[in-house]
Amino acid sequence: MESLYLIKVGEIALKGQNRSYFEGKLRDNIRRNLRGIRPIVRGGDGRFFLTAEEEDETRVVDALSKTFGVTGFSRTLRVEKDMEAIVRGALSLVDERQAGSFKIEARRSDKSFPRSSYEIASEVGRELLAARPELRVDVRAPDWILNVEIRDRAFLYIERNQGPGGLPVGCAGRGVLLLSGGIDSPVAGYLMAKRGLRLDACYFHAYPYTSESVEEKVKRLCEILAPYLGGVNLFVVPFTETQERLKELAKDEEVTLLMRACMMKIASALAERRQAGCLVTGESLSQVASQTTEAIRFTGSVTDLPVFRPLIGMDKEEIIAIARRTGTFATSVLPYDDCCSLFAPKHPLIRPDFARMRESYGRLAIDECLARALERAERSFSGPEPRLARR
Ligand code: ATP
Ligand code: MG
Repeated sequence: MESLYLIKVGEIALKGQNRSYFEGKLRDNIRRNLRGIRPIVRGGDGRFFLTAEEEDETRVVDALSKTFGVTGFSRTLRVEKDMEAIVRGALSLVDERQAGSFKIEARRSDKSFPRSSYEIASEVGRELLAARPELRVDVRAPDWILNVEIRDRAFLYIERNQGPGGLPVGCAGRGVLLLSGGIDSPVAGYLMAKRGLRLDACYFHAYPYTSESVEEKVKRLCEILAPYLGGVNLFVVPFTETQERLKELAKDEEVTLLMRACMMKIASALAERRQAGCLVTGESLSQVASQTTEAIRFTGSVTDLPVFRPLIGMDKEEIIAIARRTGTFATSVLPYDDCCSLFAPKHPLIRPDFARMRESYGRLAIDECLARALERAERSFSGPEPRLARR
């Protein structure tokens, strides 16, 4: 048996002339997230239809609830365009999960259908009440809504599942996410992917100062995020030599900021190589000494790419709530030794002087070392393969 799903798209429907571009991306992303089960995805017009085998329902629900661009979806019944079939269909959709009050919402995109939306809704409602007299109608604040859409056929559904909203990954190009093992950067990646950015992740690994387990943790975070990101490349950049150079050459109170600048510089070179147009970090204003306005001015000054910091105005509690929702929180809070805290100065600069920091950075003459680190980066991939199974 096959199941049909109706998928609603939010913001995409508002796109003018570019709409088909966004719709094409969404179709590809849905197919990619359902790789292996070969669903049929059709659509346009602010509505998509997906057909899959009934036994794949769990996978379909999981994939659609993690595909940006989808605002909601429901299993849908497709019946002939006559009132008898519509009423029969409606009765079969309403099961024990439906209690309390309801409303019928009818829409006709086929205006040649002989009944008005109002007539369809009243007739279906009347028949439902006759079959389930314990239910009641409430058009203002119903517990559930049964939708009837008259198109080439009649489509009936009760909205049950929420999608993550946003725009399809890939429609905003590519970016490089600086991904540590902490709570913040996975959330930053999630939020930028939600606006359509495809991401490569970049993790700076300072073995043995940071243990192998941190690298495992970052890989695990990529796996958790992969369905949202439509797959993600992870570049693990060996950072030990850079760290040791900094420890040797930099003033103690400047180490953290110079290290951040080095990370930005490498990420920026990676972005160029990957044809990515921006960087993404998990910085949040005033969270730590290296995230003040002055510090951010300096660390961002080593790249001319835009640096997106979607958490900049968020409280930790708000960030944690998103991390819990996306499933990264439990992994992010596993104990780990952060390479930054290990080398952290006792009294970090809070209001660094820009010119002085630029001078210190220049004196490091560290470009070759940074280029070497990027050269030695190792790449892995998490998530649904970009190759598409079309049907
Ligand atoms: P997070 O929770 O993301 O680790 P944080 O609050 O610990 O962030 P910092 O340690 O100051 O903040 O790091 C700020 C940002 O710099 C991080 O959000 C991340 O984008 C980037 N970053 C820090 N350390 C690393 C690392 N080892 N590899 C890649 N990116 C890093
Ligand atoms: Mg951190």
